[in-house]
Amino acid sequence: MIKFIISKIKKIYPDPESEKAIMGSVVYCIHHKEGCQWSDELRKLKAHLNTCKHDAVLCAAHCGAMIPRVLMQDHLRYTCPRRRANCEHCHTEFSGSALEEHQGNCGHEPIYCENKCGAKVQRRHTQQHLQQHCSKRLVPCRHCGQKYTQDTVCAHGEGCARAPVPCPQRCAAPVPRDLLDAHLRDHCTAAALPCSFRDAGCRFKGSRQAVERHTEESCAQHLCLVSAVAARQARQLDALRAAVARLSLNCTGALVWRIADWTAKMAEAKCKDGVELVSPAFYTSQYGYKLQASLFLNGNGAGESTHMSVYIKILPGEYDALLRWPFAHTVSFTLFDQSSSPDRACNIVESFVPDPTWKNFQRPSKEPDALGFGFPRFVSHEMLKKRNFVKDDIMFLRVKVDPSKIVAV
Ligand SMILES: [Zn+2]
Ligand SMILES: [Zn+2]
Ligand SMILES: [Zn+2]
Ligand SMILES: [Zn+2]
Ligand SMILES: [Zn+2]
Ligand SMILES: [Zn+2]
Ligand SMILES: [Zn+2]
Repeated sequence: MIKFIISKIKKIYPDPESEKAIMGSVVYCIHHKEGCQWSDELRKLKAHLNTCKHDAVLCAAHCGAMIPRVLMQDHLRYTCPRRRANCEHCHTEFSGSALEEHQGNCGHEPIYCENKCGAKVQRRHTQQHLQQHCSKRLVPCRHCGQKYTQDTVCAHGEGCARAPVPCPQRCAAPVPRDLLDAHLRDHCTAAALPCSFRDAGCRFKGSRQAVERHTEESCAQHLCLVSAVAARQARQLDALRAAVARLSLNCTGALVWRIADWTAKMAEAKCKDGVELVSPAFYTSQYGYKLQASLFLNGNGAGESTHMSVYIKILPGEYDALLRWPFAHTVSFTLFDQSSSPDRACNIVESFVPDPTWKNFQRPSKEPDALGFGFPRFVSHEMLKKRNFVKDDIMFLRVKVDPSKIVAV
């Protein structure tokens, strides 16, 4: 380098005088930029460079590299491929190049676990760490077999559906949590189960076996309970029936009595004595008299065998105590002519005002008289045939009570 510069200068200044002048000119060291402060005549530069700490020389370890003197120590210690050095982890001595190859492979170098568990382990122990110690390794839950990282498997296990829990009834065996309901319902030997006749009133409770024994031993007792329930229900049914009857009771004071199967009923009345048809009971008003009509198709008394007889009788009612006695309302019977043209229909109507002296109109006793008051000769059998009083084997008879009328119409 220096020779090259000088030969260039010689070419420019071939004159020895001027060469002398040049060699005497003051220059900086060629390593001025790298930090060498040396400055002197050009002719002393060569000698300076022999000692300039920034000038490069061959590596003292003969690796072939040119190294500035100032960096030689570092080179020999750290980067020269021919240096001797110990691995800081395993302390084995290597040449520089071998150490470079060794670095990154040293079995003793602590490295972070690849599972990111945060642990540093020597490279040679990583497999063992991953398999045996790493907190992020997957391990199966011992109850359900699902895999969890080692640091979460415990928390999972506490809530795991398959984890055994002690039976709350303290029977012997722990039960997997998800089977606990079924266990308590079907299998627990300590659960206090109610007797299956609980609804009938049996208060017995006990383990499954105890209940089974109890059921076998308590047939008679259970039968009594069930029979009491049946009796209670029968009473309730009666009360309900009475309530329904009360609700469906006719309180209008008028009854239209539909007598179906007329022919058969008439035939029966003709061959047997005293066949009486009775109507549904009805009230004259909501809190009024309770009445019932009766009908002898083949007549009764003065009308026997020739007429149809109708009667009304007073039944013991619920409000009798509040009513006026004797009964004094006008009663009328209407036999409907079911003619297809209503204009030509000709109904038969009979009515009466009760005779206050007649005992039938006094307040009835609990056992009412067999016969009421009415018309033994209401309609003759001949008349029944003449018009459409019976149509489609049905007859309609209206019984009406009118409290306002005191004169029979
Ligand atoms: Zn220098
Ligand atoms: Zn070297
Ligand atoms: Zn090493
Ligand atoms: Zn790890
Ligand atoms: Zn589990
Ligand atoms: Zn249990
Ligand atoms: Zn029982």
